[in-house]
Amino acid sequence: MELNNISVIGSGTMGNGIAHVSALSGYNVSLIDSSPSALDKALETINNNLSRQLSKGIISDSDAKEALGNISISSDISQSSQSDLVIEAVPEDFGLKLNILKQIDSVVGIDTIIATNTSSISITKLAEGTKRSDKVIGMHFMNPVPVMKLVEIIASDHTSDRTHEIVVGVAKSMGKIPVSCKDFPGFVSNRILMPMINEAIICYEQGVASADSIDEIMVLGMSHPMGPLRLADLIGLDICLNIMNVLYDGFNDKKYKPSKLLSDMVSSGTLGKKTGEGFYRY
Ligand code: NAD
Repeated sequence: MELNNISVIGSGTMGNGIAHVSALSGYNVSLIDSSPSALDKALETINNNLSRQLSKGIISDSDAKEALGNISISSDISQSSQSDLVIEAVPEDFGLKLNILKQIDSVVGIDTIIATNTSSISITKLAEGTKRSDKVIGMHFMNPVPVMKLVEIIASDHTSDRTHEIVVGVAKSMGKIPVSCKDFPGFVSNRILMPMINEAIICYEQGVASADSIDEIMVLGMSHPMGPLRLADLIGLDICLNIMNVLYDGFNDKKYKPSKLLSDMVSSGTLGKKTGEGFYRY
């Protein structure tokens, strides 16, 4: 199957990064978001990130210009109708994602593959809301997308081998390293990462150490490139809370209960880097 046209639904932290790497790999990209201001911000971010890659000598001037030329933006989901692959990257909410997948399912052609960038939600349940469950798959990019090599590929109980094979090929064509796993809550990456972040927040809440000290201990002691609290700010505290809730509900085990401080910060709109304040100020 020749795959040329990719739509990305949701142009936030992840969506603009996925559009960036797709366009840079030569795909025609429709970047779609219900919020026109989010689309403007996404284009600005992509422009800045391409300029950074250019200044580091990672890409050439013509690569950057070509990538920008490959991206069109829209607020209308039906603009995805000509896509061979649609990658959904709206917020981590089951009802919202299901609704978006149903809309995509109704406008795209029968061969189109629908991938979701969900961090933790069941691919099987999302796929069952469409009429093409064999062509629905998890394509979990890491943040920041232009930098991080991994794409966690999650086949559901219904995903065909052919869909899996095509999506692995697409990830490789973007210069990424796809690694496959099964459809369990949080998959592999967030099942291990999020409880660690949650525990770091509990340490902070209990006054075990300052945010800086908690992060420094994990950076120096475990050779992590970034401490868990700074990473939580980067990911977005709302996303962290949603993932903990998916683990808590999915495994019905209190060891995954989100910390009170995490819930309180999200309720007050303190979501990390994207709102200018989390465990640190930006
Ligand atoms: P975000 O909040 O930064 O962006 C979401 C975007 O979706 C926003 O621009 C919003 O306007 C748009 N949107 C909301 N409702 C919409 C609708 N009905 N139609 C079209 N657009 C809509 O979120 P994000 O951090 O980019 O996360 C997106 C997905 O990627 C989530 O499932 C998240 O779990 C996953 N993810 C996030 C990270 C991370 O580090 N942030 C990492 C891996 C995966």
